[in-house]
Order: sequence, then C-alpha cells, then structure tokens
Amino acid sequence: MGLNLFNTLTRSVQEFTPLDSSGKRVGMYCCGPTVYDFAHIGNWRTFVFADLVRRYLEFKGYEVRHVANITDVDDKIITRVREQGISLREFTGPFERAFFDDLKTLGCRPPHDTPRATEHIPQIIGLIGKLMERGIAYQAPDGSVYFSIEKYRAAGCHYGQLVKLNFEEMRTGERVANDEYAKESLADFALWKARVPEDGAVFWPSPWREGRPGWHIECSAMSMELLGPSFDLHLGGEDLVFPHHEDEIAQSEGAGLQTCGHRFVKHWLHGAHLLVEGKKMSKRLGNFFTLRDLSDKGFAGREIRYLLITAHYRETFNFTLEGLQGARTALQRIDECLVKLREAAAGTRADADAELVGQFTAALDEDLNIAGAWGAIFEWVRDTNRKLAENSLTPAAAAAALAAWERLDSVLGVGVIAEVAVPPEITALLEARQAARKARDFKRADAIRDELKAKGWVIEDTPKGARVKRA
Ligand code: AMP
Ligand code: ZN
Repeated sequence: MGLNLFNTLTRSVQEFTPLDSSGKRVGMYCCGPTVYDFAHIGNWRTFVFADLVRRYLEFKGYEVRHVANITDVDDKIITRVREQGISLREFTGPFERAFFDDLKTLGCRPPHDTPRATEHIPQIIGLIGKLMERGIAYQAPDGSVYFSIEKYRAAGCHYGQLVKLNFEEMRTGERVANDEYAKESLADFALWKARVPEDGAVFWPSPWREGRPGWHIECSAMSMELLGPSFDLHLGGEDLVFPHHEDEIAQSEGAGLQTCGHRFVKHWLHGAHLLVEGKKMSKRLGNFFTLRDLSDKGFAGREIRYLLITAHYRETFNFTLEGLQGARTALQRIDECLVKLREAAAGTRADADAELVGQFTAALDEDLNIAGAWGAIFEWVRDTNRKLAENSLTPAAAAAALAAWERLDSVLGVGVIAEVAVPPEITALLEARQAARKARDFKRADAIRDELKAKGWVIEDTPKGARVKRA
C-alpha cells in the first residue's frame, strides 16, 4: 500500500512517490542543528521525527539518502564566538560532538551526510553567483548581497509557496539583514553578509566583499550539492516554514537549476513543536531540557525517544516529567511481554506475524498515524499477555510475535530489550522462598518476599512457577 503524507506545499495529504524513475531511491534533507548550544529536546522532537520518516521509508523498501546539515556559522554563533573570544571551530566543536552523541543515545540512525556549512563556502558562493547572473540577487551599498523578491517574481517565480504573504505592505528593495525575521517583515533577505568588525575572524573571500553566508543559502547549497537540484523530501520544525524554507525555495528555484517541470523539493514535511506549559520549548524562553538534563534525572534515551514519538508529528504536545514517567511504564509493559514471549518461543524461529505488521503499516501509511500504530501495539500486548497467562501460545506463535515486534522496532527504534538479567543473589532468595513455602513455613516465605521487595524485585506467580521481575 502507498504511503500518504501531508505536504506543506499543497496543504494536503498526498501519496508519496519518489522522483527516481525506478521508484526506489529517495533523497531526504532535514535542517540540522545550529551548533551554538546543546540541542534541547524540542529540537530532538524534530530530529527524531526525521529519523522516524527515514526508518519508515526504509521499512517500506526505499533506499534513502538522509542528509542533515550542521549550521556552524550564523548570527547567533558569531555573537557567541565574539563574546567568548575563541575560534569558530573551538566554539562549535563541543556542541557538534554532543549532537552526534545525543543522536546515538536517542537511537537515531546516523544520517548518510552531515555537511557543515563552513565546508561548503564555494558551493554557496557559486549559487549566489548564479542568482547574480540571473539578476535576482544584487549587491547593496554596504557590500552585502541580497535576494530581490521583486526580480524573482518578475521572472515568473512564485514567492510564498509555503505560506500566504501580503505583498501590499512590502516596500520594494527594503532589506532584512538578520537570519531570523517574521512574515510581517517580508523583505529582500541577505545571501552574503559583508564583513563587519564584530565578525572578528569569521569571514571568507568572495567575488563581492569578504564576508559570510546568510543562513538560508547554506541549506540550499548543501541540499542541492548532495541530493541534486530537485529532491523528494525536505523536513524541519514548523518554525522553519517562514522565512527559512520559503527562502530556500526562492534561492534554489531562482537559480534555475531544476529541469523543466520540476520543483526544488517535491514534498515538504513540517513537525509541530514540543511545548512546555503551552509555550514552545526554546532557548529564548528558558523553558527547555537538554538530553543531558533528562539523563541526569535517570531517564534512558529509549524512554525519551518513546515519548517524542507518541504524538502525531503535526500535533503539538506538552512535555512533562510525568509524561516521561508514563513512557517508562509503557516500555516496561512491552519489555515484560517480550521477555515472556522469548521464554515461550524457547529458541523457535518463525516469520513475522502478518496481522500485527499489517495493522502497524496501515496506521503509518496514513500520514504516519503513530497513535494508531501504538494503539495496535498495546492491543497486541494485552492479547499476548492473556494468551501467555492461559498458556495457549505455541512456541511458533510466540516466535512469530517476536519477529513481528522486531519488524516494528526497526521503525520505532525503542529497542528489542535483552532479557532482564536476574542477579544470582536474587535467584537464591527466590529459591529459598519456594523452599520455605514447600515446607509450609509461610512466615519465612513472606519475610523473603519482603526482602526481595526491598531490593527492588517482586515475585510473580506464573503457570510455570514463581519468578521475579523488577519492581
Ligand atoms: P535550530 O538548532 O535552532 O536550527 O533548530 C533545529 C530544529 O529544531 C529545527 O528544525 C527547528 O524547527 C526545531 N525546533 C526548535 N524548537 C523546537 C520545538 N520546541 N519543538 C520541535 N522542534 C523544534
Ligand atoms: Zn535549513
């Protein structure tokens, strides 16, 4: 069955089909981190969402090339480099390393390419050069180069593909130098910013003035360099729709590199924000948690990942520590079911249970309906637990269930948990308790149960006898 995804470009859910004529290869670009600080888990919601999309495409048999750039030069970075009096790379290096560490902790498949903006200056200059040649970019009196919205529109191009814009109030030639601005400040935006004393050592030579790239042109240059002038999927958080992605389209299509009838990007996907008490989690508001903050509180990467992929990607949701606690409980339920299934399968191998995989696929095919997918999974856990309790699951059926979970987890990435190892001391206590019960010494049996509880283990009586599990 086909995969349907909401496309911000058409504001509708559309069947996803790749540009590749063989229908197999998919090019996907997700705006990566700006390495001016540690990424917070709001940022991680977007990156984990990109990982989910990539994993699901791979699950469906596509060969994905996933690019996530590293924005290692922009206004915010330059301000901090200046404040700290260190080199650009000294400043960005630790945040970049932390990004890759966090990517692993959260179980994300590493993107195939993670280009740094500072290593693509020639491509950026080349692209600006194309826009100059076509008369769509111009040099301002201060030496900076700007994108002309008027010239772009006069060339028959459409500015405002992702958002509706009010051109009435726009004054021709008005310029905005900052990387970030609102829709209301619709104006020509900077492609190349001429060096100013505050930039310190952060500048490169160019055919115009020494300087540095604007943020938007970085993504156009890197994505087209690695995926070609037209590619399938472009992702990012919803705050990037305007101006970042609108400007990316304008720069990339303005350079006229696409073959006739093709756009820069076929399918735009935007993830909703992670909120804290109804407000966007952000550095500016100070209402954020980094992954490190949550690890210090004892939460595992898979628990955080689980929480980040419980809500539909187009719905905002509130982050709370209780929510994270709920994620832990939900994963424990799955883990326990898997441990029991392993026991029941007793080493038998089988093909994946088609029913569960079918329900999961049907849900995700509908614009990544993750709530539907989790619903099917927890229904399956309930049903499996009931069958296990009734002892009505054959080893082959248990093995088929395990194989199905492995297929699902290749997309979810929350981990096929290893058997929970029971320390010998705990096993010895359990055996002593069984012996006491057999000898009808219930006082001692209860005392041992309490001792186990104090050590964090509870006894569970199953049809196959007593066993312990983590409290
Ligand atoms: P930045 O490092 O600021 O360039 O942001 C990296 C990514 O995180 C971008 O795709 C943003 O849209 C996204 N992002 C920022 N804040 C949030 C949030 N609170 N929830 C979800 N995504 C976010
Ligand atoms: Zn970008």
